[in-house]
Amino acid sequence: MRAWQLTEIGGIDAYRLVDVPEPEPGPGQVRIALKTVGLNHLDLWVSEGKPAPKSMPHVGGSDGAGVIDAVGEGVAGFEVGDEVIVDPTMSCGQCPKCRNDDVVYCDHFEILGEGIPGTFTEKIVVPAINAVRKPAKLDWDVAGTFGLASATALRMLERARLEEGETVLVVGIGGGVSSAAFHLAKGMGATVYVTSRSPEKIEKAIAAGAAGGFDSATEFGREMTALGGADVVIENVGPATLPQSLRAAKKGGRIAICGATSGPKYEITLPVVWFRQLEIIGSSMANHAQFQRVLWRISQGYARSPVDRMFGFDELPDALRYLASSEQMGKVGLKLG
Ligand SMILES: [Zn+2]
Repeated sequence: MRAWQLTEIGGIDAYRLVDVPEPEPGPGQVRIALKTVGLNHLDLWVSEGKPAPKSMPHVGGSDGAGVIDAVGEGVAGFEVGDEVIVDPTMSCGQCPKCRNDDVVYCDHFEILGEGIPGTFTEKIVVPAINAVRKPAKLDWDVAGTFGLASATALRMLERARLEEGETVLVVGIGGGVSSAAFHLAKGMGATVYVTSRSPEKIEKAIAAGAAGGFDSATEFGREMTALGGADVVIENVGPATLPQSLRAAKKGGRIAICGATSGPKYEITLPVVWFRQLEIIGSSMANHAQFQRVLWRISQGYARSPVDRMFGFDELPDALRYLASSEQMGKVGLKLG
């Protein structure tokens, strides 16, 4: 079978399509013949060593969906031929955190395709708990691409305790987590505003149901405040937008942060935080139950996970370059077979 391997840290061009032996499922594991896989910005960062994989050669990729073609010893509930989606959250499965489905707090927490080999391959072996049954009506392109971004976005909204009727501001609407948060928040009954540096992306978001949009490079916090302010702000840009994101929040507002694409440090004016009684909430990835809940929302039509473009399996470098261009609005993926 074929897999895309990184043999060194060297960006997109370091990926090589190679022939490798088929992996055999061990006890408690299943093997999935993938039909679609999804790309994330994480794949770009890993290829640049941010963070570096634990071992080389490394196979990137966190998202995928396919058909089970081998079942390991002791696996109950799955058979060859079952259609499944890969849940990319990996953990020890034994510790008290894991037993309580707080897998994101496990000391051995990993994201598939980051520290450990992932889905840029024709077949993958995962623990049975990471195989989630695909609803028959869910399109393969969506099934293989929504996972990491949509589950991360759902956890952010849940940690920010979003309630129906509240106002959400999604900063930087082009990214995968941001667009997932937009659609999930809409489906939860929120009024959603967006920001982007691209007028076309703002127009597309308004066409998809956003109440309005602002240029990320302007004082969008002031504009949002003039419209009543945001109960919840979804942030993953960082220093370039955080001053305005804090200003955009209402008194008592919650700012959920899952990343900082413009850099890691920002000096906060603390009186703003206490006088306005803001909550700054860190969030990363999602638990298995959150993955199931986001799958339910997408498959039942309470949220969309728009697919921008699918490439062929042998076009991974082109697909990653397209992702790096930030031209997309929605998910980018690969089709196998
Ligand atoms: Zn654990």
